[in-house]
Amino acid sequence: MPDELSQEETGDGRTDVERLDKEYVFGTWSYQSEVEPTEVTGAGGVRFRDARGNEWIDFSAQLMCSNLGHSADAVADAIAEQARDGAYFAPGYATEARAKLGEKLAEVTPGDLSRTFFSTSGTEAVEAAIKIARMYTGKQKIVSRYRSYHGATYGSISVTGDPRRLKAEPGIPGTIKAPDPYAYGSTLDPMESLEYIDEMLMLEGDTVAAVLVEPIVGSNGILVPPREYLPRLKEIAHDHDALLICDEVMAGFGRAGEWFGCDVFDVKPDIMTMAKGLSSAYAPLGATIVTPEIANHFEDEMFCHGHTYAGHPVSCAAGLAAIETYQEENLIEHAREVGSYLGDRLDELAADHPSVGDTRGVGLFRGIELTKREGERVPFGSRLDKISRGNTIVDDVTAAAADGGVYVASMINTLIIAPPLPITESDIDEAISVLDDALEVSDEAMDQ
Ligand code: PLP
Repeated sequence: MPDELSQEETGDGRTDVERLDKEYVFGTWSYQSEVEPTEVTGAGGVRFRDARGNEWIDFSAQLMCSNLGHSADAVADAIAEQARDGAYFAPGYATEARAKLGEKLAEVTPGDLSRTFFSTSGTEAVEAAIKIARMYTGKQKIVSRYRSYHGATYGSISVTGDPRRLKAEPGIPGTIKAPDPYAYGSTLDPMESLEYIDEMLMLEGDTVAAVLVEPIVGSNGILVPPREYLPRLKEIAHDHDALLICDEVMAGFGRAGEWFGCDVFDVKPDIMTMAKGLSSAYAPLGATIVTPEIANHFEDEMFCHGHTYAGHPVSCAAGLAAIETYQEENLIEHAREVGSYLGDRLDELAADHPSVGDTRGVGLFRGIELTKREGERVPFGSRLDKISRGNTIVDDVTAAAADGGVYVASMINTLIIAPPLPITESDIDEAISVLDDALEVSDEAMDQ
């Protein structure tokens, strides 16, 4: 931090960094007039600090991505070492970091997924998956679901189902949306929604390249389908000669108490996308892994895709060290165990707060959905609130949690509880007691 920038608040209540950031940086997913970033100055374990000396528990691992927390020294060291030994080589060169990470991903991903295209984000991982599926099958359409997020670029936002897609529509041609397995909030039973997809694929008449799903839906509300859902979806896709793509960008790398969300259902997809926990956010890294059969197709058809930073050595070194850390510290098992404690504590909140309509999830991937009428499923905000101006009650709850020193992400009507995997029961207790107070805000806002 340059000396001349002070962390003291000045007249407008902003620090120097906050004022510069506000003036010169384009904020993501926001009305620029409403962007008010808080200056953060450091982090360690499951906590981070701001410039005003406050310490926060990171109860959502930032954007559900800092899976190792903020003190993964082995990852930081691997990054520094790679940056010194050769920060960048073009994708046409083989580097030890990329080769070993490819081998490691073949080891930890399910089935015979084994050849990886590396990129730098979840969005790019999905873009590559769409292109691979289209080229491999020779078909163009992609079926995805409404309550889903797959990225921000034109292809990935077009397969995204949530309202964030609306500003980018009509998007790329050939994307079709299906209903979701959302037992709490939809009138359609999750398993019935599958039969709808079956019929859709039949009516599309062999033009669908792939069905793309988050095995456990993340930002659209932590939707965990019934145990039989994903195996049946794979069967339906294959019956119609379509591939199954699992987007594991958020659910992957221990979040759900297994290596990947699809492992919860024992399903082996044809293509899998990853990012976030892949490097635990220590460096930008995305990956698209495919079966040998799909990879072999490109022996004789040019894979027309790539980026300058595809397989960036520093990012790959971070990814390899992150996966080794998950393994050495048994963090997947830990997430499963401590995740079950978290689930119990969330159920207690549900019992104490009439505005908690549902708590759900698996491992350290959980949600609290609010209701504004006790015993009824009436959301506080509409899904369109995400792209329209103004706060919802959920934002007021997260602001109250922030006042108590707990950062928690939210979307529409749901708080997303997804802390770093090394979290302990006592950290959880501390955060839950803050949420307990914060939920008074939604209790008070309920319809009388
Ligand atoms: N896919 C899923 C399931 C995601 O949750 C996200 C981001 O939240 C993405 C793709 C896009 O990833 P990124 O923001 O790294 O581009």
